[in-house]
Amino acid sequence: MSTAVAPKLDIQKIRKDFPILEQKVNGKPLIYFDNAATTQKPKQVINAISEYYEGYNANIHRGLHSLAEKATTAFEDSRKVFQKFINAAEVEEVIFTKGTTDGINLIANAYGRKFLQEGDEILITAMEHHSNIVPWQMIAEEKGAILKVVPVNAKGEISLDDVEKLITDKTKIVSVVYASNSLGTVNPVKDIAKLAHAKNALMVVDGAQASSHCVVDVQNLDCDFYATSGHKMYGPTGCGILYGKRAILEEMTPYQGGGEMIDNVSFEKTTYNDIPYKFEAGTPNIADVVALKKAAEYIDAIGKDNIMAHEQALTQHAHERLSEVPGINFYGTAAEKVSVVSFTIDNVHPYDAGMMLDAKGIAVRTGHHCTQPLMDHFGIEGTIRASFSVYNTIEEIDFFADSLKDIVAKFS
Ligand code: PMP
Repeated sequence: MSTAVAPKLDIQKIRKDFPILEQKVNGKPLIYFDNAATTQKPKQVINAISEYYEGYNANIHRGLHSLAEKATTAFEDSRKVFQKFINAAEVEEVIFTKGTTDGINLIANAYGRKFLQEGDEILITAMEHHSNIVPWQMIAEEKGAILKVVPVNAKGEISLDDVEKLITDKTKIVSVVYASNSLGTVNPVKDIAKLAHAKNALMVVDGAQASSHCVVDVQNLDCDFYATSGHKMYGPTGCGILYGKRAILEEMTPYQGGGEMIDNVSFEKTTYNDIPYKFEAGTPNIADVVALKKAAEYIDAIGKDNIMAHEQALTQHAHERLSEVPGINFYGTAAEKVSVVSFTIDNVHPYDAGMMLDAKGIAVRTGHHCTQPLMDHFGIEGTIRASFSVYNTIEEIDFFADSLKDIVAKFS
């Protein structure tokens, strides 16, 4: 039995930062294994939201009064923190969005509508989340472009050879998930970016799952875009960032018009603001962006390496303990993966398992995880997915494995 945990972390101390973990669910201590859907939030993030509303709520930019200045500074500080967090070359390359879905839609509309032409190709993989499929399908349909798909193997991996073969002179965009939410697979996005650039295609990275589980250095990855969500990295829901290389962002035409994104408006002609503001139309989600900075600082304070080591230990332990469950089938056994364990159990419907686990206080996700084509590929309706975060423990996984054994025993 594996009992390895990253030695530097005091998990019980970390857990105290997350007030929600103290509660009981259905009379049992909450075991929260639905982190790939959204992580819980530390009090540093929660407090930042109320501090903003209690202390300096004001609309940002253009306001001359003290509260507006304070709010603007806090908002723009968050941008600087994220520039460092993803190692963007310039702060203007960080756009605040509603999240990954919003970021990918922005690229599809603001880049795709202007630059895609009939017959152009967009390459994605078979393990993409719907938010990295549907925006491309929509723009492909509008522009007469073609969506191509890199297959996955039985372990839930893609091969670079397949990627290379599928990128042609017509490929304009390659868009790949860094870490799969359904399987946990970590894709070699840096290598894929090289292949894309060799054919002058742009590389888009769906970083929704990666920001708290993988090293993110957009300059090293050499991706052209990186989209991510705050709520999967201990931050609030409804805010995230889109990174884009300056030269590309400057060429793109904004797809949402309104306040903030303009330079000058007249009825005859409107000119647009500079990046990043030309992509931030309207009053943004100020409170949550300000609090999102605290999430990045929280990760940095614990250390991404420490978080990753702890989560890897949890994942390895989960694979070992869950292997004892009769009739279990794992989906996603890639050599490199984040802390996601996805599986089915013979003769137990995922929904039944999910409800029975909930009765024991264990929160997992069941279903297709917004990756229906991937489920179709494996010939299943969905899986049971346990996804771990820094505050989870080996003891919780042991209780989970024992609970699953009980459930299987009831069904047999
Ligand atoms: N991509 C992946 C891999 C995801 O896991 C998710 C969220 N489940 C998304 C994109 C979409 O993120 P959001 O709903 O925060 O926009």
